[in-house]
Amino acid sequence: MDMQNSKNAFYEAKKVIPGGVDSPVRAFKSVGGTPIFIKKGHGAYLRDIDGNDYVDFVQSWGPLIFGHCDKDIQKAVIKSAKKGLSFGAPTKIETKLAKKICDLFDGIDKIRFVSSGTEAVMSAIRLARGYTRRDDIVKFEGCYHGHSDSLLVQAGSGAVTFGTPSSPGVPADFTKHTLLAKYNDIQSVKECFVNSKDIACVIIEPIAGNMGLIPADIEFLEELKKVCEENGALLIFDEVMSGFRASLKGATGLVGVKPDLITFGKVIGGGMPVGAFGGLGEVMDQLSPDGPVYQAGTLSGNPVAMHAGYASLKKITKNEEIYEEFEEKATTLMQGFQKEAKKAGITLQINVRGSMFGFFFNENEVKNFDDALKSDTKMFAKFHEGMLTRGFYFACSQFETGFISTKISDKMIEKSIKAASKVFKEIA
Ligand SMILES: *Cc1c(COP(=O)(O)O)cnc(C)c1O
Repeated sequence: MDMQNSKNAFYEAKKVIPGGVDSPVRAFKSVGGTPIFIKKGHGAYLRDIDGNDYVDFVQSWGPLIFGHCDKDIQKAVIKSAKKGLSFGAPTKIETKLAKKICDLFDGIDKIRFVSSGTEAVMSAIRLARGYTRRDDIVKFEGCYHGHSDSLLVQAGSGAVTFGTPSSPGVPADFTKHTLLAKYNDIQSVKECFVNSKDIACVIIEPIAGNMGLIPADIEFLEELKKVCEENGALLIFDEVMSGFRASLKGATGLVGVKPDLITFGKVIGGGMPVGAFGGLGEVMDQLSPDGPVYQAGTLSGNPVAMHAGYASLKKITKNEEIYEEFEEKATTLMQGFQKEAKKAGITLQINVRGSMFGFFFNENEVKNFDDALKSDTKMFAKFHEGMLTRGFYFACSQFETGFISTKISDKMIEKSIKAASKVFKEIA
């Protein structure tokens, strides 16, 4: 497969863009090689600038639930763009999209739109702090909530649960209010509440998708809700990835635990830059202009983006059965991979939730970040390259999630498994 044009384009990009990319994972650092540059998408496929087609299991990291160039979403975007790109004043489509989400989630009375997942989470946390008048927050190792300062934390040295910055440029003072707990481990959460009486909220990906795919145990989430209630802290589900992906009602719809606030992104914009956070009216009303908690955005609720999101969600709610189809396809793919890997003497751990799938090159069950880190990332890198050169585009890191779109057919799943079978034999 010729990728020379992509190689040249990457070389040129690196001269003027740090690392050649606008978001680090795209640079292929963890799998080696160089990224393919995209010319266009069509249905289930990506086409690179060398003219190669790939079955796309990344889907722009989640948003494109109907694949590339979905006609209905395209139509809505073009129609809206013709009337103007942005007004910085209210439009009715914002209310329409808000109503749709409030109707879907019984825990959401009100919702506000922003332009990215990072912004949604950052704002939800400020709101939780403003509402509870407390400063500390709890997050889980391995969960990703965007790149705002207080969330870029890693476990500190020693036994303390307070996080230290995971990036230069983040003052330790900004992360000293972030406590770290272990995913699927309620004891570690209880310890946070022993260490601090000032916890405003606990934020979690109820289906973690940023350390590979690791769903939280339902009993764990039930306990989590209880611990939050007992301590007067809010529970925030970060559904930027799992929202409208794991099920029509996201992870919240699957686990039966009701959080106080939910954050969205990715699918909610149908491919345009949209994020949102919503929840109990009493909490949401603390936001300015009605309440004292400040939050704003010049392009928030952008009409073109809102129309893309609305077209996408309208189509989803009209075709609820897609989630069953997703789960069937994702399960077939993952079980196929696991079986073929086993034949080559490789053990894969697999997970599926709706249209989300994940696989770890790991001998043991993966329940948290520490377990995930024990995966064989070198073998993953070889697998990734083997699949890429055969025309299958998977996320370029062991610690990401894969996605099925409605455009991915049974035949494509079958071909992917066949290709994977060959790759497993090569890399074993
Ligand atoms: C992608 C993601 C974010 C960040 O969203 P951006 O739009 O990239 O800022 C936050 N939380 C979760 C769970 C995500 O998957």
